[in-house]
Amino acid sequence: TSDSPSYAHVDNELVPMEDATVSIRDRGFMYGDGVFETLRAYGGEVFRWKAHANRLADSASAINLEHGLSQATLKNRIDETLTANNLDEAYVKLSITRGVQPGKLNPDPTVDPTVVVQTSPLPRGGINSNPVWDDPATLQTVKTRRIPDRALPSHAKTHNYLNGILARAELRVSDADEAVMLDTDGQLAEGATGNIFFVDGDALCTPSLDGPVLPGITRSTVLDIAAEEGIPIREDSFDINTLREAEEAFVTNTTWEIRPVKTIDGIDIGRGPLTTLLQQAFQNRVEKRYYDTHREVPNEE
Ligand code: PMP
Repeated sequence: TSDSPSYAHVDNELVPMEDATVSIRDRGFMYGDGVFETLRAYGGEVFRWKAHANRLADSASAINLEHGLSQATLKNRIDETLTANNLDEAYVKLSITRGVQPGKLNPDPTVDPTVVVQTSPLPRGGINSNPVWDDPATLQTVKTRRIPDRALPSHAKTHNYLNGILARAELRVSDADEAVMLDTDGQLAEGATGNIFFVDGDALCTPSLDGPVLPGITRSTVLDIAAEEGIPIREDSFDINTLREAEEAFVTNTTWEIRPVKTIDGIDIGRGPLTTLLQQAFQNRVEKRYYDTHREVPNEE
């Protein structure tokens, strides 16, 4: 209940939320020098743990962070936090930073990482039990470009989120739900916190991972379902106008799952059958605990 204290996991200790702090010298705070995962628990179990754990490992290696923690240890800390907070349906955030180090910008290979797990209730069907599936998003193309991979590894989920924050800040006037970022060549990249899909003819389209796009776990679930259903998939480089002319569109991330798009830059996008089919299949995989029994899609997706 809301009266019971909530706990965070900080450096292998469960601490009451109000005492959960990290050092002001932590490099995650000073420089955004850390990696994280946003996960979701359904029925007390983290969905697609293996896929998240693999992406976290890829993120850590992209920034040369050798934190020395096994996937089993990390999973354990998540499970302990969920149990301490008595949560079955939850949002989970796992962060690993390079911790406190002597010296300035140069990272030291010897790392005493700061490891934090935070959880909060997230009922099934979306935030506040208000299903985002039934609350189609408004999208707006913003001026902020997605940082190129050569500047900051696009496949890594690092604490450096200013790119997405600045993109979202552009939505203040329109009050749109999500910002659509283009890459530095002007091609469609992704949202501030989600991957973008759309339907063109009979094909399900999404920007390919050759561009500056985070390999979303929800993105991979959707592609996995589409392949199984025999839906043609186009992972490619797309012009923003292709999205504006789409028959259907949706945004994916761990918290929104599959959120339909209502408008993009004020242009109406119809709600369609393919989005509904994918939402149902997604829900089915959650309920059947599909990824507990099926082999996870390979890491290099
Ligand atoms: N792109 C960005 C930039 C994100 O922050 C997120 C959210 N983690 C996603 C895509 C979607 O990823 P996932 O489906 O793994 O939540």
